[in-house]
Amino acid sequence: MTCSDQEDELLSTLPELPSVPSGLNRRGFLMRHAAIGAAAVMTGTTWTPEARAQQAATEAAAQQAKNEAMKDASGLKMSNTLSPDLDAVRKSKGPVMTVADEFYKVGPGPSSSHTIGPMRITYDFYQRCTKLPADQLAQATGLKVHLFGSLSATGKGHGTERASLAGLVGKEPATVDPRFLDEMIAKPDRTYPVRLGGKSFNLSLADVVYDAPKGEFPHPNTMTCKLMAGDKVLYEQEYYSVGGGFIEWKGYEPPKKGQPKYPYATMKELRQHAERNNLSIADVMMANEVAVSGKSEEQINAFLDKIAGAMLATVKTGLSYKDDVLPGPIKLHSKAATVWERAQDNKYESDRAIAMVAACALAASEENARGHLVITAPTGGSAGVMPAIVYALTESQRRVTPEKIREGLLAGLAVGYLCKHNATLAAAEGGCQAEIGVASGMAAAMIAQVMDSSPQVIENAAESALEHHLGMTCDPVAGYVQVPCIERCAFGAVKAWTAFMVATNEIASRHRVDLDTTIKTLADTARDMNPKYKETSEAGLAQNLTLC
Ligand code: SF4
Repeated sequence: MTCSDQEDELLSTLPELPSVPSGLNRRGFLMRHAAIGAAAVMTGTTWTPEARAQQAATEAAAQQAKNEAMKDASGLKMSNTLSPDLDAVRKSKGPVMTVADEFYKVGPGPSSSHTIGPMRITYDFYQRCTKLPADQLAQATGLKVHLFGSLSATGKGHGTERASLAGLVGKEPATVDPRFLDEMIAKPDRTYPVRLGGKSFNLSLADVVYDAPKGEFPHPNTMTCKLMAGDKVLYEQEYYSVGGGFIEWKGYEPPKKGQPKYPYATMKELRQHAERNNLSIADVMMANEVAVSGKSEEQINAFLDKIAGAMLATVKTGLSYKDDVLPGPIKLHSKAATVWERAQDNKYESDRAIAMVAACALAASEENARGHLVITAPTGGSAGVMPAIVYALTESQRRVTPEKIREGLLAGLAVGYLCKHNATLAAAEGGCQAEIGVASGMAAAMIAQVMDSSPQVIENAAESALEHHLGMTCDPVAGYVQVPCIERCAFGAVKAWTAFMVATNEIASRHRVDLDTTIKTLADTARDMNPKYKETSEAGLAQNLTLC
């Protein structure tokens, strides 16, 4: 029996419930009223009904005020809504319009929203500045970046200032040499030359300012970029890193796209397209990719091959590090290689399948923690999950072909797109359920598609994997995407495989929860979640774990 059940039982035993004074929480008032009655019986005190109700109201009001004060102190009153002007919010209406190369992005870890997004933003700003009139550029003396909200609260642990500076000096996420970012850690006072028009000046990490962590922002990951002439702002743009490496800015208008061949905004609609046209989920996805992006099937396949290759590379590189210490104050030792080695040992043969999937997820996730290149699927924090599945499918005895891997990546996209469309991919909005939960759902869909499962089984597998991450909070210790993130990727990958196993061993039509309901629950839970648990590092493990 839960506490709530016990309270309901207690309340139901009251002979006659008093009316609840206006402005008071009903449960709080009735519980105080019942407790006063119980205490009176034990102590032999007598209350008139009016005096007992008055006392209960006084105690309930005091408790309510205390709760509100605690909420204020914890920042619960911090903005928990997104601006309706954001395209990410507007796009939640109409059919899914996201395409593969917007979703799977290659860039430096450890976080798509706090590293890749900010780097894309400052690179965009740098590009805009290069196009300003020569007379404006002639006055320029520097560039400044201000980080707000979650970017300010946990940016240090994510290397947001290094990513922001790298973009300002003209480095792109997909092509930056991770050693360039590593050097910024080793030499934090180093300056970097920037050339804009005829002017050139030096920038350093001091030009990236950790500004207000709390306030009313259009998005929890808000930043501003400024071109300066001394103290005067010559040109300024406000940006938002809206999750998964996606970026927007004030006044953002999405690029023009074609209309999807099979429009859908829910899994039910997507599955119906597949079933009515006798197509697989991957077939429907490919037809839409071609129609929306305007690219050919060959171009899309080439992109998917590149992504699969990059995922395999992150796992291989991650496995090549044995017991190194990951950057940051946690002094966490890597363990992917050890888990992998043990998986090969015949003594532990019965553990092998799970150990290999876990080792691959740890390997890619540890690469993310090193700040090396990863692939958002859907985010940097969750970037160990899908690569583990790609590796397990291709490099194990299964030897799945590249064609099947493409199909799996497309089915994974379907789940990722739907979560982005109808809920969120940003931990700053929805906690870890939006990262590892979505990644696990994508991975389950991928396995099921690769194994030629029906659209219903693919949906069921994805649903199960996502369902069992609902409510998971984001509390990276010391703001570093390491604890709990690295092991969480391993669990997300193993859960994906479990979800596939369950989905293929049940009668598909008997599965009682549909994916759309679970995605709606993800969105509802994200809205209700205490903001402390949304990538602020102010609660959970981040609060309780003591680092020595
Ligand atoms: S706890 Fe989860 S959501 Fe938060 S940073 Fe880690 S992986 Fe990402």
